[in-house]
Amino acid sequence: MRTTAGAPETEALGAELAAMIEPGDVVVLSGDVGAGKTTLIRGACRALGIEAPVTSPTFTIGRRYEGGRLPVAHLDLYRLESLELEDPALLDDYLGSGAVAFIEWPAVAAPALTGRRVLAVRLEHAGGDRRRIELPAASARK
Ligand code: ADP
Ligand code: MG
Repeated sequence: MRTTAGAPETEALGAELAAMIEPGDVVVLSGDVGAGKTTLIRGACRALGIEAPVTSPTFTIGRRYEGGRLPVAHLDLYRLESLELEDPALLDDYLGSGAVAFIEWPAVAAPALTGRRVLAVRLEHAGGDRRRIELPAASARK
């Protein structure tokens, strides 16, 4: 468990996470609204060489980013979280085999993740601008 004192430190943790990622990985992020999930993903995307702005997907469940070291998808399933994912194929566009996918509010996506290596990140508020963040154990690497 690590503690960050501001968004730039959380982005730096995202860069650490990026160093663990291999093509095909799925990174699932859990934590309350404002805990820093999108911020951490932004840091990871920067480290992967993606220059486009990385913000919360709105009006869509996800975005794809090309132009980095590997193709990246960023999904935010908050609005699906209370529903059953009636069609896991809904996620297929984002879960291409050579891509890495970052998924906020991932519970509903579980049926679509069979056979993928899943790295779990947990974030929580720790007062003010502090956040406690648990990155995947290095031993989770293949
Ligand atoms: P989430 O995706 O979990 O809802 P966001 O990353 O979108 O969270 O938002 C986190 C907000 O909290 C941003 O406005 C960010 O600037 C702010 N913030 C303050 N301190 C931190 C920190 N230590 N880590 C990450 N974000 C922080
Ligand atoms: Mg978010």
